[in-house]
Amino acid sequence: MIDSHCHIDLDVFNANRTEILKRCIDIGISRILVPGLSVSQFKSLLALSYEYPNLDIALGCHPYFMKGEPCQAVVKQNELALNTLAKKHKDKFIAVGECGLDGNLSLDFDFQKAMLQMQIELAIKYHKPLILHHRQSHNELIRLLKQNEFPHGGIIHAFSGSEQIANTYIEMGFMLGVGGTITYPRAKKTRGSIKTIPLEFIVLETDSPDMPLNGFQGEINTPLQLPLVVKELAILKQISEHEVIEQTTRNYNKVLSL
Ligand SMILES: [Zn+2]
Repeated sequence: MIDSHCHIDLDVFNANRTEILKRCIDIGISRILVPGLSVSQFKSLLALSYEYPNLDIALGCHPYFMKGEPCQAVVKQNELALNTLAKKHKDKFIAVGECGLDGNLSLDFDFQKAMLQMQIELAIKYHKPLILHHRQSHNELIRLLKQNEFPHGGIIHAFSGSEQIANTYIEMGFMLGVGGTITYPRAKKTRGSIKTIPLEFIVLETDSPDMPLNGFQGEINTPLQLPLVVKELAILKQISEHEVIEQTTRNYNKVLSL
């Protein structure tokens, strides 16, 4: 099984990262995608991917990690830095992201859009899929993707939303990232959408260290929780866990051209 979204590079895992990754292999987690967060983080991400060959990495700027004044000069500065890294490591990063739009963040929304547009262009230039973050931003995200006629698809991380929105992303070549949210009975809308969406368009994720599963609130989430996501998805779709694992693994490899 594959964790398509896990921030195992963050400092919170410094004390037990090696142990966790070893146990992941023991329980059958064959690959883990660690998203990019900023230009400055990429160097350590790269080092980590050489240290642990079962990690896949992406290159990008997450809106949460933007520093400095939100202005065009900062967009330009990041564009230059990302392009330099992309050129140098084009065979090493498998996607552009984690990028996206967060409607709950106080960060200027036009600036977020400019940063995303710049990264969509980067993904087009290097023929890479996107790892997209969304929060109260589906309409704008979909508009930008359509406007760019984005051809490489990718993953909508921690998908939540209606079946109609899910289908719009699927038609554009995206897979939907499904994680701990479906373990919460109160997440009725998302559980309902995920139940209806064909398994062919779903990838698994934990979003560790965030998004603890139901029953683990307040704890640091780890990729070792992935089997519980598999279990819940199998119950929701009334299929075997084996089928969930096989199909989501195929989906991951397909959308990331592996
Ligand atoms: Zn993330």
